[in-house]
Amino acid sequence: MFAELISGKELAQRKRIEMKEETKLLKQDGITPGLAVILVGEDPASQSYVKGKQRACEEVGIHSELDKLPVDTTEEELLHKVTALNEAEHIHGILVQLPLPDHISEKAVIDAILPEKDVDGFHPINIGRMMVGQESFLPCTPFGIVEMIKSKRIPIEGKHVVIIGRSNIVGKPVGQLLLNEHATVTYCHSRTKNMKEITKQADILIVAVGREEMVGEEFIKPGAVVIDVGVNRNSEGKLVGDVKFDEAKKVASYLTPVPGGVGPMTITMLLHNTVESAKRREK
Ligand code: NAP
Repeated sequence: MFAELISGKELAQRKRIEMKEETKLLKQDGITPGLAVILVGEDPASQSYVKGKQRACEEVGIHSELDKLPVDTTEEELLHKVTALNEAEHIHGILVQLPLPDHISEKAVIDAILPEKDVDGFHPINIGRMMVGQESFLPCTPFGIVEMIKSKRIPIEGKHVVIIGRSNIVGKPVGQLLLNEHATVTYCHSRTKNMKEITKQADILIVAVGREEMVGEEFIKPGAVVIDVGVNRNSEGKLVGDVKFDEAKKVASYLTPVPGGVGPMTITMLLHNTVESAKRREK
């Protein structure tokens, strides 16, 4: 058996074409969706993520603006900036690129963003709304993963989903979203015992650990759907996931590649949330 690939790149492209049409219609009503990105410091990876997000905004007709702040910006100055953007009429989404320098509390900054402009879906109010199944901004990576699974019409209801990883931005929320879709969800993490015995029961296995090719075929039930969230650079400088692609390909029914899998969908769901925020404001 050879797994069918779920290309996040292709799905993202299709969604961005649809979004471009939506922003055109909004513009006819005098509304241009606007995203403000705040970047503190000079971290090269963060700079490259921010560039990617800005390029994607441009592609679908979202106005984007970047506030580049020096690494010694104080928490108070950053909170001041967030407050100004909360009040800015032309801004529908605010994204503070993480990680922040150690002297700034990420929690304080995320809490300061208006939930109605929290297009990253990290604000506790949006997380709480997601938990109880109310309208909210869904965190972009988990949202993108669910869209990828649905794009192949893979049944979720009643299926056993096993997630390796329990971070607040990926593992925990993706489990909650799939629970909302009536899956039976199990979490594994660094303290889990006999992990392979658990992952081998998964109909859908989601791996979000951040360890280069940790998951081989011995973790995977034949025919399972495998979603690889990990992004790691190997010793040759090549991007690889948390899953051994060549092994998983032989046992899984569906598999996401790295790169070209979950990554492009994360940015696309950020664009989606920004357009959605502009539409909600219009209403
Ligand atoms: P994170 O906050 O570091 O969380 C990693 C999780 O993996 C933790 O829950 C940790 O368990 C668990 N873990 C670590 N070692 C383990 C082991 N040996 N066995 C089992 N579980 C283990 O990472 P994250 O932010 O969720 O990101 C995970 C990966 O996804 C990273 O490679 C990241 O770059 C990537 N990512 C990709 C995208 C995208 O758009 N493609 C978006 C976000 C993240 P404990 O909780 O017990 O410590």
